[in-house]
Amino acid sequence: LIVLGIETSCDETAASVIKNGTIILSNVVASQIESHKRFGGVVPELASRHHVEQITIVIEEALKEAGITLAELDAIAVTEGPGLVGALLVGVNAAKAIAFANNIPLVSVHHIAGHIYANRLIKEMTFPLLSLVVSGGHTEIVYMEEHGEFKVIGETRDDAAGEAYDKVARTLNLPYPGGPHIDRLAHEGTPTIDLPRAWLEEDSYDFSFSGLKSAVINTLHNAAQKGISIDSKDLAASFQDSVIDVLVTKTVRAAKEYNVKQVLLSGGVAANKGLRKALEEAFKQLPSIELVIPPLNLCTDNAAMIAAAGSVLFEKGKRSSLALNANPGLDIESF
Ligand code: ATP
Ligand code: MG
Ligand code: FE
Repeated sequence: LIVLGIETSCDETAASVIKNGTIILSNVVASQIESHKRFGGVVPELASRHHVEQITIVIEEALKEAGITLAELDAIAVTEGPGLVGALLVGVNAAKAIAFANNIPLVSVHHIAGHIYANRLIKEMTFPLLSLVVSGGHTEIVYMEEHGEFKVIGETRDDAAGEAYDKVARTLNLPYPGGPHIDRLAHEGTPTIDLPRAWLEEDSYDFSFSGLKSAVINTLHNAAQKGISIDSKDLAASFQDSVIDVLVTKTVRAAKEYNVKQVLLSGGVAANKGLRKALEEAFKQLPSIELVIPPLNLCTDNAAMIAAAGSVLFEKGKRSSLALNANPGLDIESF
């Protein structure tokens, strides 16, 4: 089974060829970070334009690196949503054009399902499982009883974890995207500053990060007013501690309650060194649950994860019509 994956939901133009659902033959990512950096975030119009310029080159490169011709493809998997509509449209239209011209089946994929399936490129999935999804736009705990079936048991009520990282980074004058910079600073500092942890209702698996973000901003403002200097390393360490404490505690509790066999870490914030380490330590105490953490390049946006999810959906019989449209608000439970 040879599947071409295409991903253009945000600021990475990506294409990848996957064999039998798990073997990466190529994984090409053209990042636009350098273009968006000076604006401090992703500019949607700019993203679409870059995708248009890059998409053909990236797809051709992925096929060439894999040594695969269009005739050898069994399916084309593409991100339908969620994401920026103008960005998604570029990938969807490229996928439809290639599928139509070469008579190849088309399979649409939910971007977050892709993030979760990045794990299958590392380890076969065993059900039931939970995935902690932490990315630029999402923070959720997803329960899966079988392939392609997703149930969100908890999600953020305000900011996503990655969003909080990027906003805190901005107040510390760090470049976009701020996650990796905060992560690095956090390891150089000590968590000496008292910041809130939003546990919400006792039995809730939901998250909230906007209060924490405001607390960081207030801490900086108050210190500036009093003329006290705050060590940004200690502030980063305290912020990271608070985020990780809540993420890990809720994931462990959910894993026990749902009696899962595996816990998969997914999304761009899964690249966070502190989070990876804290989860590893927590699940060492629970040897009956297997923790899977993808390598960094499979945590951030890529098309191998889209092809991996697409391969499974294709084998389950899913086919998308050539009338497929981008869906920026696509729901993971019903896509
Ligand atoms: P979504 O997947 O929700 O649609 P997205 O695709 O924009 O959003 P990803 O590419 O999955 O998000 O992740 C990007 C986010 O990951 C950014 O917010 C970035 O700051 C964060 N991130 C990347 N590396 C790290 C790190 N080491 N520590 C913390 N955050 C990180
Ligand atoms: Mg991105
Ligand atoms: Fe993503």
